[in-house]
Amino acid sequence: MTPEGQLNAVARSVRRCRRCRLWRSRARAVPGEGAARARIVFIGEAPGRAEDESGRPFQGMAGREFDQLLRRAGLRREDIFVTGVNKCRPPGNRRPRRDEMDACRRAHLDRQLAAIAPRLVVLMGGVAVEAMLGRPRLRGVLGRVVERDGRRYFVTYHPAAAMRFPAAGRSARRHFARLPAVSARAR
Ligand code: URA
Repeated sequence: MTPEGQLNAVARSVRRCRRCRLWRSRARAVPGEGAARARIVFIGEAPGRAEDESGRPFQGMAGREFDQLLRRAGLRREDIFVTGVNKCRPPGNRRPRRDEMDACRRAHLDRQLAAIAPRLVVLMGGVAVEAMLGRPRLRGVLGRVVERDGRRYFVTYHPAAAMRFPAAGRSARRHFARLPAVSARAR
């Protein structure tokens, strides 16, 4: 099957998914979107209200921040693939629990990454780092490339944190500006 076909199959299974409790609080599941043959995949946390209502990732204020950060890297949404660790909105936007992260990653995110086979996976924020690298904090990996299981990850702040905290915003802008060079080295 082509990468496009595989991603469509994952999106269909996301919309039907009841593997963890979060299906109960969703209006719409948010599989993620973008280029099936993207060189870079961006992983956030979980849908918020705007994403849950639209079924699309990174809408609303964090979405605008993400678009601005992408421009720093000379990228547009159609060049990349963007999704979250969790595809369903947690009640009250609470942090996804570890069992919810693990269930969603195994069932959906791992299949998306296998289909796209990107050069670089950008982990945005603590939930993405916890789910993919098994670390509780950004400290020690922020702004760095980390190799794990034959895949290259780059760690930065979540756009919502970049928006809220000026120092995180400055760091995130510097990180995104480095992405063209970082992904060129990632083979
Ligand atoms: N993850 C996020 O952090 N935000 C989204 O919109 C989707 C996934």
